[in-house]
Amino acid sequence: MAVDLLIKNGTVITMDASRNEIEQCDLAIHKGKIVEIKPNISIESDKVLDASGCVVCPGLINGHSHVYQSLIEGLGYDMHFNPWNWRFLFPVVSKITPKDAQASASLAALEMIKNGVTTISDHWYLHTDMENIYKVAEIFDQSGMRAQMVFGFLDETFAGVKSDSDEMTMVKSEDLLIDEARKFYGTWHGKKRTTVALGPGSTEDINESLMLKVVALSKELDVNLSTHVAGWIEINSYTIRHFGERDLEHFHSLGLTGPKGVMFHAVWLSDREIEIMARTGTKVVHCPIANAYLGYGISPVSHFLSRGISVGLGTDGAASYTYDMLEVARTAGMLQKASKLDAEAVTAEELMEMLTINGAKVLGIDDQVGSLEVGKMADVIVVDYKKPHLLPVGRWLPKLIYSARGSDVIHTVVEGKVLMESGKVLSMDEKKIIEDSLTVREDLITRAGQETRDLLSMPWPKNGPAWRSLAK
Ligand SMILES: [Zn+2]
Repeated sequence: MAVDLLIKNGTVITMDASRNEIEQCDLAIHKGKIVEIKPNISIESDKVLDASGCVVCPGLINGHSHVYQSLIEGLGYDMHFNPWNWRFLFPVVSKITPKDAQASASLAALEMIKNGVTTISDHWYLHTDMENIYKVAEIFDQSGMRAQMVFGFLDETFAGVKSDSDEMTMVKSEDLLIDEARKFYGTWHGKKRTTVALGPGSTEDINESLMLKVVALSKELDVNLSTHVAGWIEINSYTIRHFGERDLEHFHSLGLTGPKGVMFHAVWLSDREIEIMARTGTKVVHCPIANAYLGYGISPVSHFLSRGISVGLGTDGAASYTYDMLEVARTAGMLQKASKLDAEAVTAEELMEMLTINGAKVLGIDDQVGSLEVGKMADVIVVDYKKPHLLPVGRWLPKLIYSARGSDVIHTVVEGKVLMESGKVLSMDEKKIIEDSLTVREDLITRAGQETRDLLSMPWPKNGPAWRSLAK
């Protein structure tokens, strides 16, 4: 018998139940699955990847993003979520077309594959054209990545911003959104490597009636219910004023907590709310860089872990400025240690679990991916340690978490298919994606209007953030 792919001679960090780590080990892959893990596998293979001097580990999981923002990183920077949202994001997002959706998803997928990210969960709520989300799902599929597409819902505001203007093109009516979510689920859920989840924007963004319909639909379809909770501190004042309870408490009252509940950010939670999450099996996607950059604060991750809550990691959108999940994990670790004045607040092993097996648990796909085990899907990356910043190796894992960069990943494999080999992406046309992203972004900026254009040509500020020099 011959296999499709053999990865030879690496240090395999399995992330299996006993967290085995095996040096000088081979990994045999056939028909998309892992068929053998042991040293010196003597079997013929159609393709062999050499991993000597490298770490071989499960592909990394990005549990939360908004990939359309890959086109606009650096547009309105060093500012709070609002006014960034209403002043600079709004003119852009109200004009997003399927072409923009396609270009942004391609650029993001390319960056992720190059950084060893094999699974992406994208929260897409820009239904300015109902084709947008289909384009994104198609691009992820063609790129070879595994995806959980979160169908977003906005029926009242865009990230808390209300407006009567015709520009609210991303806000749609309740019934239309429910119909479209059902249709999107029918087309994409379970199709090859893609699953579908439902994603109300936040407690500010949709009314209670739609929220309850989304909860009912998620139960009917048995899919994840994923939303933004208590990121910015002001949201708790808002929900107390409108609903008489804190943000997560309100989600709990509406039925969004539970094993299928996935909470993005989760920064400003009371002890009682953390207890609710632990008791109901609700999960968290922690976005440490976005939380820090936007001035949200630091999520109580070590508290979540001590209560047994499953935590994955995510980039969120442009506020992370990266799709390098190793950088996200390292930042998560540093922020916990520094803010708690405790070097033990979170460990390299816990961060690796968040990047892989626990990230998979959060998305409900841990029976397929998240660890390297015989019978599981072969989502595997190879990280080259033959570099000054990774040598000499005393122990492999802390160097992976605290020293390695996404650019140290040399091979990216999803379901047995090699998406990147020796740093070259095989499943996408890198040159064309970069060229397209530039022309599409230029066109988008032109459609967004003069203020967006002015923002990009601001001189070096005399003092403070550049955007404040713009006329109000
Ligand atoms: Zn988000």
